[in-house]
Amino acid sequence: MLPYGRQSIDESDVEAVAEVLRGDWLTTGPAVGRFEAELAWWTGGVPCVSVTSGTAALHVAYVAAGVGAGDEVITSPLTFVATASTAALLGARVVFADVQPDTGNLDPDAAAALVTSRTRAITAVDYAGHPADYDELREVAGRCGAALVADAAHSLGSAYKDRPVGSLADLTTFSFFPTKNVTTAEGGAVAAADPAMLRRAARFRNHGLVREPAEQRHPDEGGWHQEVHAFGLNYRLPDVLCALGISQLRRLARFRERRARLVARYDTLLRDVPGLTLPAQRAYVSPCRHLYPVRIGGGRRREVYDRMRAAGIGVQVNYVPAYWHPVFEDLGYRRGLCPGAESYYAEELSLPLWPGMTDAQQDRVVETLAGILR
Ligand SMILES: *Cc1c(COP(=O)(O)O)cnc(C)c1O
Repeated sequence: MLPYGRQSIDESDVEAVAEVLRGDWLTTGPAVGRFEAELAWWTGGVPCVSVTSGTAALHVAYVAAGVGAGDEVITSPLTFVATASTAALLGARVVFADVQPDTGNLDPDAAAALVTSRTRAITAVDYAGHPADYDELREVAGRCGAALVADAAHSLGSAYKDRPVGSLADLTTFSFFPTKNVTTAEGGAVAAADPAMLRRAARFRNHGLVREPAEQRHPDEGGWHQEVHAFGLNYRLPDVLCALGISQLRRLARFRERRARLVARYDTLLRDVPGLTLPAQRAYVSPCRHLYPVRIGGGRRREVYDRMRAAGIGVQVNYVPAYWHPVFEDLGYRRGLCPGAESYYAEELSLPLWPGMTDAQQDRVVETLAGILR
């Protein structure tokens, strides 16, 4: 089965991991800081805190934004459930705003219409790797004093109006799951320009421990003393995985080039296939695409999914609207809430896309899809 996405691991990655395994540090060692510094090169200098997953990154970002019980978090339903569930776990009410019909990204006007005095964060999702409309979202968030969060699990390496993802929101979260733009097996990170937010993020990922004597309440206890001022968790990304991350980031420019080339080939080869809508792209973004999401018209998405799978082509559907999950249904969310996201979902099909995919493999995807639709 051709997968919809997969990791690209070469000998330089293997060697980078083996080198750490032969050394003194397995968990928190020198590779962690180096990985965070390399990642900050991609965010345009915005500092980063590594964590154990993209989900952990969202949890940490909401904590850093001060999200708590009684707060509201506005986000897109066209996303992986973690964008919403991490806010819900903190006691916030998730408010789903509809998406733009072409990009599938959070619609700034829809978000603006749902702002209340309790809105604490607005979370955009760079769907498929295409950055959301951050200038408009910034204005909405600024008007109500909410933090602007970017779930950039899909979009590391993308840019919006010549500004890199990671520098567009108050808090940006990344995922390094194997199918994403770079991988650390499991892993994630939070980028934040504001020093106080960054420090809250760094502390929460390490049990909330305060090590700096100047900031401790009881600094005279002894050299061993550490204090917890706010509860945290162990979300530390180990040295071994950070070493893989460093090696992967060195390859990201080439991954991006190959993804762009494959996207351009899909655009050309699928242009005249009937019943197909190709992914939209705004003139002012340059995406490093994680997904190639086409839409299948005529109510045929499920049939096309089944037939592609039967032909050994691992297409995927991204995503079931988040509030369709029974956990949200049980909280009173109902189908019909965001009609734009629901009709996008009803037609969406993600075609295989990863840097190691060959032209011949892509041709097979195109021929199989065209054969079904013609
Ligand atoms: C992958 C993903 C996540 C979660 O990341 P993990 O590393 O799998 O925990 C969150 N949001 C979106 C949009 C994702 O694609």
